[in-house]
Formats: sequence, structure tokens, C-alpha cells
Amino acid sequence: KVVRLAHRPTTDIDPSYHLPLTYESVPTFPDDDGKTPLVLLHRLYLSIDPAMRGWMSSARSYLPPVAINAVMRGATLSEVVAVRGASRLKVGDVVSEFAGEAGGWQEYVIVSARSVRKIETWSELVDNHQQTPRELPLTIHLSVLGTTGLTAYFGFIHVGCPRLPSETKRPEVVLVNAAAGAVGSIVCQIAKNVYGCKVIGVAGSDAKCRLLIDDLKCCDAVINYREMENEVERGAGTADPAELFALKSTEFQKRLRRVLKQIDAKGLDIVFDNVGGYQLNECLSRLNYFARVAICGAISGYNNDLTKQQTDNNVSPTGLYMKHGMAIISLRAKIQGFIVLDYIKEWSNAKKDLARWVLEGKIRYQKEDIRDGLENAPSALVDLFHGNNNGKLIVKVGEQ
Ligand code: NDP
Repeated sequence: KVVRLAHRPTTDIDPSYHLPLTYESVPTFPDDDGKTPLVLLHRLYLSIDPAMRGWMSSARSYLPPVAINAVMRGATLSEVVAVRGASRLKVGDVVSEFAGEAGGWQEYVIVSARSVRKIETWSELVDNHQQTPRELPLTIHLSVLGTTGLTAYFGFIHVGCPRLPSETKRPEVVLVNAAAGAVGSIVCQIAKNVYGCKVIGVAGSDAKCRLLIDDLKCCDAVINYREMENEVERGAGTADPAELFALKSTEFQKRLRRVLKQIDAKGLDIVFDNVGGYQLNECLSRLNYFARVAICGAISGYNNDLTKQQTDNNVSPTGLYMKHGMAIISLRAKIQGFIVLDYIKEWSNAKKDLARWVLEGKIRYQKEDIRDGLENAPSALVDLFHGNNNGKLIVKVGEQ
């Protein structure tokens, strides 16, 4: 089974049109000089990420677009089933790969042995660990110990630059949106359990809000933005996108003020933004002096047709209002985008911190949302844009 990009979406993804499933023969080693060590990989798991929507478009980005008819790109875990040439890898090893040469949405692929890395054992990750690590599933290498955890780690720590309560007079106040998602839930836990921050989570359902408050205990207050949006739409008496945007902004601002009061805070020290749009705009008007805004993603706009004129001239494609410019200057606030790949040289050390925090219970390992079969990968990707995922979304492609 292989999924190739057949067409580029301009708005929402239509799974069978844009990402059809095909059946192809299992590749065999090429009949060449045999000097390059090669491995035949059997895919076990495929990570499903919002970024895939961007890779499907032709827009300029941090990675080149996936070519039409190319295998869809993705981060993966695979088992080595055959080796050709001298390699440190052997049959049965499990390797991970992020969006590179090892392809993505296919059951079998042959790649250079150098392009994949064997997943770390717990004793490689946690120095002198006293306790035997709990049995944690392989998929943790795509969630907490994969690019998801690394995005939370570098975005929050390196871009958000949190300060411990001992360095400031009060705990810092952090807002995270898409807070119950894969990246968001790890950011909230690092903020609360490692840095002692006060955390506000924004999520799209009561169940997700309860997860943050009652189960993970990583948020002090929450906003259910989807319930708020539905309320606004019901009472608006208009379907005009610009008017609705303004109404949602106003209502979100009200709720933001309410939760700040609830946690006895005046403003936000750190915003970890996964969403963009009005959520980001309204956070920008509630910043404290020297606030840091880490722009991780803008999922509310990924399905927008960027070739079309925005209906509201104040809204750029990512939805940033220009009106905040002066406030950002006088508050000496910092807004920075980042890509997890920027920190690739520091991944090994960061994984050690993340693994230690899992063992110490500072990051609760949450079961991933695992879908069965490569044929379900395209519809799983669509689910991300409707909040129909519970934590890290992964597709199980094959049995080990
Ligand atoms: P998630 O598990 O958070 O899933 C996406 C979530 O986004 C959904 O569950 C939904 O949660 C929320 N969402 C979807 N549509 C909207 C919308 N219109 N408005 C508000 N929220 C919405 O995915 P990830 O954790 O994998 O990714 C989170 C963000 O991090 C994405 O923006 C992604 O692009 C970004 N990212 C950035 C990286 C980087 O290097 N900069 C690397 C990896 C991810 P809900 O039900 O709460 O609405």
C-alpha cells in the first residue's frame, strides 16, 4: 500500500481525490555496484501532522512541497527487514525517520542505511536511572520522544524562555492553544510541572478541557473556544466571515479577561500559539511587559485559500492584526516563529530531558490516538482540522 499526492488542495483535503491509495510491488535492492549500504524497511507507524497540509501545497515553506505523484511525506517508525552491504543496522532493528529520504506513506521502502536512525533505549536516554523504566509503547518515539515532544520542548523553553518562580516575584502566566493536542498538552505539562507556571489552556470541547484540568492537572483555567464559537454563530444574525471574525474576537477577549481574573493574573507572560487567527490577535492585547510569543503553528488558517483576497483587510493570512504593533513596542514583547528542525543538533539532549520528565511523572504519558491501516491515513489527517483527534494522531501501518 502506498499513498501518493495526486492533487494539491486549495482548501479542505478530500482524502480520495488528493491522497488516493495505490497498490505497488514491494521494492527490491537495485542491481548496482552495491557500495552504498541499503535497508529494506517495513513501516510500523506513521505520524499524522498538521504540517502535512502545508507540504501538500506549492507554497514556499521550510521544506520543499511534496511533488505531484510522489509518496506523501511523513515521520515514521519502521522495522529493518533486509540489509544490503556493511551497515550497523541489522534485521529486526526499529528505526525512526523525520520527513526525509525514508519516504513516508508506504508499507515498504528501500533507503540508504545512513538516512535512518535506530531508536534509543531507555538506558541510552536516562543516565544512571535508578528505576526500571515503565514499559512504554514504541509509539512514544513519535509522540513525547518524537518531533511532537521536541516541538513543545524547543518552542516553550528556547522561544518562550520561561522563568522559574524563584527568578521572578510570581509564577509566569502562560497561554497555550490547541492545548489538549499532541504538542499543546506537553507544553502545558512542561510549563506547569517543570517551570511552575500558571497555565491557561484553550481547547475545543468540554472533554478536552476536563482532560487538562482534572486528568493531566496541567492547566489552572481553560477556555472552550468551540462552544464559544457556536454560541457566537447562533446569536450573530450574520454569516459574513469578517463580521463573525470580529464577534468571535470580542467574545474571546471577554473570556480571556475572565480566566485571567480567575487565576489572579493581569496578563500573559508567554503565549504558545498553535492556532493563529483571532486567538493569537486577542492574546497580543493581553501581554505583560517583556512577554514572549512563540508562534508554533497556525492551524486555523491552514485550509484557507491563500490565493484569495482576505475579506477583512486587517487580517493577514495568519490573522495577525497590525493594530498591535505599537503595544508590542511599548511592552518590549518578543514574537518569534520557530521550526523544530532548527534544533536538530540538540535533539539528543532534549530527548534525555523529556524521557527523564516522563519517568519522574512530570510529563504524563498519554495514550496516542492510533488508527489502523495506511488506507485510513488521509481521513485521519482531515480529522486534525476538526479537532477529531485525542492527542497525538498516529496510523499503525504494520505489525512488528
Ligand atoms: P494536535 O494534536 O494539536 O491537533 C490539531 C488540533 O488543532 C486539533 O485537535 C484541534 O484541537 C485544533 N484545531 C483544529 N482546527 C482549529 C481551528 N480552526 N481553531 C483552533 N484550533 C483548531 O496537532 P499537533 O500537536 O501535531 O500540532 C499542533 C500545532 O503545532 C499545529 O499548528 C502544527 O502545525 C504545529 N507544529 C509546529 C511545529 C514546528 O516546528 N513549528 C512542529 C509540529 C507541529 P481542538 O479540538 O482543541 O480545537
